[in-house]
Amino acid sequence: MATTSASSELTLDQIQTFEGKYPKQLWYLFFSEMWERFAFYGMRGMLIIFMENRLHITEKAANLQYGATQAFVYTLAFVGGMFADKILGYRKSIFWGGFLMIIGSFILGFAPEKLFYYGISFTIVGTGFFKPNISTMVGGLYKPDDPRRDAGFGLFYSGINFGALFGGILCVWIGKFYSWNLAFSLAGIVMTLSLFIFVFTKKTLGPIGISPLVNKIAPSRILVYDIMVYLGSILVIPLILILVSNTDYTDMVMYTFGPLALIYIIYETLKYKGAERAKLIAAIIFILFSIIFWAFFEQAGGSLALFAEHNLNNSVVGLKIDPNVINNSSNSFFVILFSPFVGLLWLWLNKKKIEPNTVVKFGLGFIFLAMAYYIFYYTRFFADSNGITSLNIFTIAYLVITIGELCLSPIGLSLMTKLAPQRLHAMMMGLWFLASAYGQYVAGLLGAGMATADDHAPLMTKLISYTDGYKQLSIYALIAGVVLIIISPLLRKLMHDVH
Ligand code: GLN
Repeated sequence: MATTSASSELTLDQIQTFEGKYPKQLWYLFFSEMWERFAFYGMRGMLIIFMENRLHITEKAANLQYGATQAFVYTLAFVGGMFADKILGYRKSIFWGGFLMIIGSFILGFAPEKLFYYGISFTIVGTGFFKPNISTMVGGLYKPDDPRRDAGFGLFYSGINFGALFGGILCVWIGKFYSWNLAFSLAGIVMTLSLFIFVFTKKTLGPIGISPLVNKIAPSRILVYDIMVYLGSILVIPLILILVSNTDYTDMVMYTFGPLALIYIIYETLKYKGAERAKLIAAIIFILFSIIFWAFFEQAGGSLALFAEHNLNNSVVGLKIDPNVINNSSNSFFVILFSPFVGLLWLWLNKKKIEPNTVVKFGLGFIFLAMAYYIFYYTRFFADSNGITSLNIFTIAYLVITIGELCLSPIGLSLMTKLAPQRLHAMMMGLWFLASAYGQYVAGLLGAGMATADDHAPLMTKLISYTDGYKQLSIYALIAGVVLIIISPLLRKLMHDVH
């Protein structure tokens, strides 16, 4: 990769040889991503409530449409990553994605009932261009072998969760109690802030994120390609609109898109030889495991939300808090609390030369996941005769699942930037998020499988039904963790110099 460019002041080398724990550019990306996640999780929190209360969609249809939006957001991250790698570069992709998200949010702010599906379709496509590419840029701040990279992604991850926590709480609160127009517009305002921060600080990023076509083809041709991508993405919006409003199509898309993406990445992998190919294979294995992780983890938006609504009391450490608020916010809260420590712990262990390798960290992620679901299961032993159980124990399970997430998710982002060759960085990041799309999708199926057939069954029956499901998930998570540890020598061989 070129280390200088006409338009930048800093060279790549100057950026990557920073002193201290974090490069200063990480903070700029941190704040851009924080506001983007504020808008995203704000929107996510509002969706299902708005659909039920204002659009008067049935609970089942609302659940399915909610699942479809989540699945499409992360599916499009793969497409957004691919276009960034090949044509736009990360910067223009982020700008374009942010711009579409702003339009989407303001459409919703303007006429939430009438233009609902238009608004969310804009935000879905916009997020696809924004989300994977900002994460990829974090990777660009580090030299390939810099041990500070995982800690950097850890910090970036707390930015994500600051945004998620405040957006998730504020937008829903404003929407429910004041005005939906204002709440959706707020997402647009903070997204504008995100983009401002990005635009005003991007000069400090030197050559990171400029189009891969610069210096390869004439600027006028680059412009033509760029415009084609912009137009193409606008044309996709009506298609997304149809898909989200008719969830029967979601299954079809999920059945075809994933296998096609996998075939494509295998095709790209075969273009490489030796170590580069092996590393890509390792990346694909990690991605496949992450689908299982997210499928279990993402019960949060579905079955755990219903479990919280029906089967939990409202007392946590002596305070009266609505169990659904805990379900929506405790994960982000614990990430913010623990993420810096986990990042610094890895650095500290690295200095002592006893930092666990990535495969072990992934394995630990699954072990914590298994423990957390065992605790969700265990809540049944604290239930009263009406089937209402302890919010305290439920919150502890969230703490444990968050530690698992921190062992796997920030490291996964970091890993994608280490294992993929430069020209596939954003696409692999997109593939990582595509795994989240499938996670969301499978999570819905698992959740539906756990629900009692009768919506009006006694709460005790619901408690038993859900907690039985959580016990199963705990066992499967444990098996996945053990399989990872068993295949770790093979995986480590494939990873070559990446730890
Ligand atoms: N909570 C993280 C984020 O919003 C991870 C989401 C995911 O990959 N499923 O970025």
